Amino acid sequence: MCLRKGLFHENIEILLSTELVNLEGEPGKFQATLRQKPTMVNASLCIGCGACSQVCPVEVPDAFNAGLTKRKAVYLPVPHNIPNTYVVDMAACTLCGQCEKACPTPRH
Ligand code: SF4
Ligand code: SF4
Repeated sequence: MCLRKGLFHENIEILLSTELVNLEGEPGKFQATLRQKPTMVNASLCIGCGACSQVCPVEVPDAFNAGLTKRKAVYLPVPHNIPNTYVVDMAACTLCGQCEKACPTPRH
């Protein structure tokens, strides 16, 4: 059985680049406070094709591989992640616009 099947449930909402800031309450009635970081890519439009990453001219060490490999400034943080959405590392991005031109979906 594929363990990822468990992620597709009507009561599970996957939130990208989100961290838990605070949790209050008790079982059955929790109140969670979340902080969502901007990814610069519209997750509802991204099809995970990777065209943006192919044309991106910026390469930086890939933290996922402990810096042993390189990744682009627009990249997939984790292989086979769900949803399969790319993100922009604004610390590395030069705002050249190449990724936007290469993207096959309308305005991200
Ligand atoms: S705008 Fe940023 S992420 Fe996009 S191709 Fe240029 S450097 Fe890469
Ligand atoms: S080119 Fe557009 S649709 Fe394809 S992975 Fe990049 S952001 Fe997503």
